[in-house]
Amino acid sequence: MTVEAKKETLGFQTEVKHLLHLMIHSLYSNKEIFLRELISNGSDAADKLRFEALSNESLYEGNSDLGIRVDFDKDERTVTVTDTGIGMTREEVQDHIGTIAKSGTKQFFEKMTGDEAKDSELIGQFGVGFYSAFIVADKVTLTTRKAGEQEAVRWESAGEGDYTLESVEKATRGTEIVLHLKEGEDEFLDGFRLRSIIKKFSDHISLPIVMSKEIPAETDEDGKETAPARVEDEVVNSASALWTRSKDDISDEEYNEFYKHVGHDFQDPLTHVHSKVEGTNEYTLLLYVPARAPFDLWDRDAKHGVKLYIRKVFITDDAEQLMPRYLRFVRGVIDADSLPLNVSREILQQSKQISTIKAGAVKKVLGLLKTMAKDAEVYEKFWSEFGNVIKEGVIEDHKNKDVIAKLLRFSSTHTDTEKQDVALADYIERMQEGQDKIYYVTADSFSAAKNSPHLEIFRKKGIEVLLMADRVDEWLISNLTEFEGKQLKSVAKGELDLDKLDTEEDKKEKEEATKDFESVLTQIKEVLGDKVSEVRITNRLTDSPACLVTGENDMSLNMERIMKEAGQSMNMMGMGGVKPIFEINPDHALVHSIKDEQDDERFADIANILFDQAILSEGGQLDDPSAFVHKLNSLLQGLLK
Ligand code: ADP
Repeated sequence: MTVEAKKETLGFQTEVKHLLHLMIHSLYSNKEIFLRELISNGSDAADKLRFEALSNESLYEGNSDLGIRVDFDKDERTVTVTDTGIGMTREEVQDHIGTIAKSGTKQFFEKMTGDEAKDSELIGQFGVGFYSAFIVADKVTLTTRKAGEQEAVRWESAGEGDYTLESVEKATRGTEIVLHLKEGEDEFLDGFRLRSIIKKFSDHISLPIVMSKEIPAETDEDGKETAPARVEDEVVNSASALWTRSKDDISDEEYNEFYKHVGHDFQDPLTHVHSKVEGTNEYTLLLYVPARAPFDLWDRDAKHGVKLYIRKVFITDDAEQLMPRYLRFVRGVIDADSLPLNVSREILQQSKQISTIKAGAVKKVLGLLKTMAKDAEVYEKFWSEFGNVIKEGVIEDHKNKDVIAKLLRFSSTHTDTEKQDVALADYIERMQEGQDKIYYVTADSFSAAKNSPHLEIFRKKGIEVLLMADRVDEWLISNLTEFEGKQLKSVAKGELDLDKLDTEEDKKEKEEATKDFESVLTQIKEVLGDKVSEVRITNRLTDSPACLVTGENDMSLNMERIMKEAGQSMNMMGMGGVKPIFEINPDHALVHSIKDEQDDERFADIANILFDQAILSEGGQLDDPSAFVHKLNSLLQGLLK
C-alpha cells in the first residue's frame, strides 16, 4: 500500500465538536493561551521521552536534545510549534486528538449554560489543551512521529466536523503543529508578541523554548559591512525547572503559571507549598491546591495528580503513589534527589523512600490546609470544593486522623444554614455548662437534618447540634467517635443523657409520664409488633408526637437507607435490618388522645399513623404509603362527623 492510500477522513466525536464550539466562543478573550497549551504538551512529550529513554536509549535516535521551537511565517500566515518529544503513533493521534476519553464528559457538557463567563469557567475545569489552537486558527496541521518508529502521521482539521489522517515522511521524531491563522489574528505573526506570551505563560518550562532572531548586518565606522544580516536561534524562556529555584526568586505569577502547566488548569490555584526537605532522603516539593474541583473529581480513574521527578527527570504522574486518595485534588511536583534514576514504576510502588516522601508530602499539605483555614473566606471556598473529599481522610488516614478532624467543617444549628463553616473546636467552645458530648444528626438532605424531630429538645435547651447531610458523613462519623476527648454522639441513637442538663422538675415529670403511660406503651408495642424493638417515653421531643431512635451501637436509619439504595441487603450483611425504638411524646395532644382511646381498631390506626409519621419526618419511605393515607383519611372523616 502506498503512503498516500492511507489518507482517511474521520468524524469528530460529538463531545469534541461541542467542546470546540464552546471553547472558541468562551475563551476568545484569552486567546493567547493556545501557545501555553501547545508548549505545555510539547514539554510533557519531552518528559515522557526522557523517561522512556532511561531504559531504551535508542529512542533518542542519536539526538538527545530536547526542546521546543516556535516559528511564524508572515506570508503563509502560520505559527508553528515543534517539539522533539516522544511523538505519537497513528492510533495515539486518533485516541488523543479527536476523541475525549475522559469519562463523564457527556454529563459535563450538559452543565453548560450558554453564558460565556460561566461556561469559560467550566471549560477551565475540563482543561482546554490542544483544541485551544482553534481559537486562533481555522486550520491546524499536526505532523508527528513516535520516537523509534518509522511511520509518521499527519492530522489536519478545520475544527468543524471532521479531520483527516494520512501517513507521511518525517525525518525527526516528535510533533510539529502548524496553525493557519484565522482572518484578523495577524497579531501572532510578530516575534515580539510571541516572545512576550512565552515569557508570560511558559517561562517556567524547564526545556529551552527557541525562536529565531533576526540579527541585522553589522557595519564598521565607515559603513562597511563586517557581518551580514543573519538569523540566529535564541532561547526565550529561563528554561530552569521552577521548583529547583529559590522561593525568593519566584513571583506569584510564575508560581501560578507553573500550576496551570502541571495542573492542566485554566485558573489560578488557591495556594501552594514549596519546600526542600533535607536529610538522607532529600526531596523538593511544589504542591498546589486548585481553586476549583476538576469535573472528574469523583471519577476513580481520573489522572493528572502529582508528578514524580528524580533529579529533574520526569518519572511518573501516577498520583496514588504520592498522594492518598483523599488528597487527590492536589497538583504539583515532587523531585526526589536520592532515588536511583533507573527505578521502574513497579519498584517505586514498594519503595520505602517513596513511602517516606509520601508521608512527608501529606504532612506538608495538611499543614498548608491548616494555615489556609486561618483565613475563613479562602477556607470556605476550599471547603465547598473539596470538603467532601477531605472527609474521606478521616476514614482513610488513621495516622493523621486528629489533624484532619481539625480541618473538618460542618453545618450546625448554631446558624441553621447549609454553609459548612463550623469547626469541631468552635463547637466545643460553645458547649453548655455540664455538656460533655458533641451532638450531631445525620439525614439525607440538609432540610431533613435541620427539621429533624430529634433536634427539638436540643433547640429548647439551646444545645448546638451538627447537621450532617452529605453521603460520606455516615462513614465519617462512624470513624470519628471522639474529638479532643469529647465523644461524638448521634441525637437519634440510644438514650440521651441530657439528665445533667435537666431540672429536677423535668426528671420528675418524665418518671410520672412513664408510670402513667405504662399500659399504653405495651399496647402500642403489641400493635406495631416486630416493626420496633421497644416503645418508650421520649425526652427528645417537644413539638412532635413521636420519633424513631436506634440503639447506641446500631446502624443509623439514614445509613440503612443509603445501604439499601446501594443495593445492599441487610440480611446478606448479617445485620438483619435495624429495628428502631419508638419513642412517644406524652405532652402531645395526639398521644394524649390515644391514651384515652377505647376502640381497639382506632387505637391501632392512630399508633400506626404515629409510627409512619415518624418514619416520614426522618426522611424515610413508607413500605405501604396507601395504607397510611387510608388510615389517616378514615381518622379525618371521623373528625368531620
Ligand atoms: P491534555 O494535555 O490535558 O491531556 P490535550 O488535548 O492537550 O489534553 O492532549 C491530549 C493528549 O494528546 C495528551 O495527553 C498527549 O497524550 C497527546 N499529545 C498532545 N500534544 C502532544 C505532543 N506535542 N506530543 C505528544 N503527545 C501529545
